[in-house]
Amino acid sequence: MKKVLVTGGSGLVGNALHTVINESTSGDEWIFVGSADADLTDSNATKALFDRIKPTHVVHLAAMVGGLFHNMNNNLDFLRKNMQINDNVLQQSYEHDCAKVISCLSTCIFPDKTSYPIDETMVHNGPPHPSNYGYSYAKRLIDIQNRGYYEKSGCMFTSIIPCNIFGPHDNYKPEVSHVIPGMINRMYDLIHTVKDLPEEEKVFVVFGSGKPLRQFIYSIDLAKLIIWVLDNYESVEPLILSVDEEDEVSIFDAAMAVAKAFDFKGKLICDTSKADGQHKKTASNKKLRNLLPNFQFTPFEDGIKASVAWYIENITKARK
Ligand code: NAP
Ligand code: GDP
Repeated sequence: MKKVLVTGGSGLVGNALHTVINESTSGDEWIFVGSADADLTDSNATKALFDRIKPTHVVHLAAMVGGLFHNMNNNLDFLRKNMQINDNVLQQSYEHDCAKVISCLSTCIFPDKTSYPIDETMVHNGPPHPSNYGYSYAKRLIDIQNRGYYEKSGCMFTSIIPCNIFGPHDNYKPEVSHVIPGMINRMYDLIHTVKDLPEEEKVFVVFGSGKPLRQFIYSIDLAKLIIWVLDNYESVEPLILSVDEEDEVSIFDAAMAVAKAFDFKGKLICDTSKADGQHKKTASNKKLRNLLPNFQFTPFEDGIKASVAWYIENITKARK
């Protein structure tokens, strides 16, 4: 029986894992921790957590996380905090003889100038997009460190590379959020708090040109894939966990899906004075498809509908 410690257990992906675990009948023990349980930038606090829990396996999700604008304004913090957290968690996992650690990279960390589709072999092939170099280099170092532990002691510390994630329990804080929770929060406010206009005359602003392309994965799908990786994937090499290339959508398409889920009757315009970030990061999920051919991803619009419904139902407790 495994004893699985989930760092970042209070976040978007941590909550999705919790939901999926609750629905499963596995006999494993799962412990979900957030920053209130231990500040993982602190090596003593991290050691105390591992001494107390004594995990056999770790799903390492904890990180300083945010969307394009949060990254652009805080590159140094993203670099330092994430390097500290990752070093503390990986070293404690090593010292506690954990049989497996799965850490999270992101398709954001791939080189800016690259050929497409991007695959797992390309993580270190060139500088990342300048908007998020702090997060990117800290995340790339996880892969380097995993290889170091493997070389030194044969540890099965691996990494997954999700595309842009969305779902219930997202972070909706406007200055921090990724595009989907950011738009859900702003559209809800436009519909419910702007009272002096009929809805048909309201205008929703999509930041940037709306033209960048993104692959989005529903958090519950990602949680199911993480459990599969925990039970079945035995390699230090990173694994991209993304929807298919054909499922990539433009930011404007994503805004329209959010508007449809809210049944918003107003107009959508783009504010091109705001940054677009990287135009696209199209990633290949061929390696995943070869290993797990029959996985069914939740259709994008269904995931958006469920996420909007969750936000409306949980408006008082959502992180915003
Ligand atoms: P999230 O919702 O922002 O949650 C972040 C988690 O990290 C929270 O549980 C938070 O704890 C914890 N945390 C942050 N700083 C900490 C610290 N100093 N000590 C201990 N815990 C700390 O993030 P997420 O979207 O679930 O992301 C999970 C993983 O996926 C991350 O590694 C992220 O880099 C990666 N990822 C995310 C995306 C995306 O689109 N969201 C895409 C690709 C990869 P508290 O909330 O309790 O403070
Ligand atoms: P990325 O996928 O890592 O680049 O990060 P985001 O999830 O923050 O997506 C950024 C893209 O969405 C950029 O092209 C932004 O201009 C666009 N965007 C449109 N509206 C919003 C919003 O409300 N919040 C955020 N974060 N981005 C938005």
